[in-house]
Amino acid sequence: MRLSQYFLPTLKETPSEAKVVSHRLMLRAGMIRQSSAGIYSWLPLGLRVLRKIEQIVRAEQDAIGCQEMLMPTIQPADPWRESGRYDAYGPEMLRITDRHGRDMLYGPTNEEQITEIFRETVRSYKDLPKLLYHIQWKFRDEVRPRFGVMRGREFLMKDAYSFDLDTEGARRSYNKMFVSYLRTFGRMGLKAIPMRAESGPIGGDMSHEFVILADTGESEVACHKDFVDMDWAAADIDYEDDLQPVIDRFTAKYAATDDERNPDIEKSMAADLAVGRGIEVGHIFYFGDKYSRAMGATVTGPDGEEIAVEMGSYGIGVSRLVGAVIEASHDERGIIWPRPVAPFRVGLIDLKPDDAACAAACDGLYRKLWDRGIEVLYDDRAGRAGVKFAEMDLIGLPWQVVVGPRGLKTGGVELKNRRSGDREELSIDQTLAKLTES
Ligand code: ATP
Ligand code: MG
Repeated sequence: MRLSQYFLPTLKETPSEAKVVSHRLMLRAGMIRQSSAGIYSWLPLGLRVLRKIEQIVRAEQDAIGCQEMLMPTIQPADPWRESGRYDAYGPEMLRITDRHGRDMLYGPTNEEQITEIFRETVRSYKDLPKLLYHIQWKFRDEVRPRFGVMRGREFLMKDAYSFDLDTEGARRSYNKMFVSYLRTFGRMGLKAIPMRAESGPIGGDMSHEFVILADTGESEVACHKDFVDMDWAAADIDYEDDLQPVIDRFTAKYAATDDERNPDIEKSMAADLAVGRGIEVGHIFYFGDKYSRAMGATVTGPDGEEIAVEMGSYGIGVSRLVGAVIEASHDERGIIWPRPVAPFRVGLIDLKPDDAACAAACDGLYRKLWDRGIEVLYDDRAGRAGVKFAEMDLIGLPWQVVVGPRGLKTGGVELKNRRSGDREELSIDQTLAKLTES
């Protein structure tokens, strides 16, 4: 993509309404524009990141045999009346009436809808277990939308639902999802710590929030200090194995959000306790037959009896993650994208586009990089070098290649790593080779 043609409306001034760094940087880097409170348009650069995150989430759901579907954003009110949540949900639910006077709503989540689909289609225990997910926009009329996309009113969520015959099966589904979340966040370059969360009506240990430690986090969290440095990208998991040992390894020590903090454990940990703030990027939750019982989602069991299925739900805040990654990875000059979610891998800067040699070298490099599947944003605009450098640092692509007439005389370009700031003089071929490996 050539920057001369790209739609990248960056801002020089820091927008005063933005209170946290990710919100400021997303606005300044031309990733999003606010439409109304807590509702945003995603501009090309922002959308590329959103899609990368979504794709990692999708791949890891697919890897555990969770099947993608797509439910609508607008739902009828009736299933919510059956579950008892239509009134319970309160003003966070955006309620709509259609032209025939029917009550509709913009879905804040999809338990009712998936339960309705399940009860109309699945009859026998032989069809279990089932794991289903979708990635769809949600609407919650939050009291205080803030921090940009991190607490929006309209936001993109991956929500998955499990259906099992009994608690043991439900635990297997829960464990699969738990481990896949470690991998999902690890692949984005994040350390998301699984924290015990308020377990809701059923109790037990089957509710975890996945939290990224950041000063701007909205929830108070406490964990053993070893968790802060743990490698959460638990690689090479065989999902057919018993995953309980993996989970025990990752949770044997202590980690809890404010709802579930335990003063006794915390006292015993003394100096090993790390207390801080965190951003919730995912939440997994086992709720048994709460919805299946209320809505009559039963299957015929092995002995012919009708059994209300055991369910769990598993959310990831896809659009919140865009902000959370920035909170975890930036410096005073701008964003520093982890490679797997970077909108482009390389920023190519032509310092003198009106110089034929510079333009030819850049054009060649640009084509060769794309041919190798490396996404490049090519700053081919006329303008001051300082401005170009500042903008490239602001949008935070992992690598910058700087091409100028002086270096080219000896056949060289400069390769800069955005995170470390390291620069090296390389030939064009060396640059290509290094970027291909990176
Ligand atoms: P929170 O405690 O932050 O309000 P929640 O417990 O209401 O979140 P869930 O219903 O568990 O959230 O939703 C699943 C995921 O969706 C959350 O872990 C979070 O990452 C994301 N999410 C929830 N609310 C918002 C929001 N208003 N804006 C952006 N993402 C959100
Ligand atoms: Mg939650």
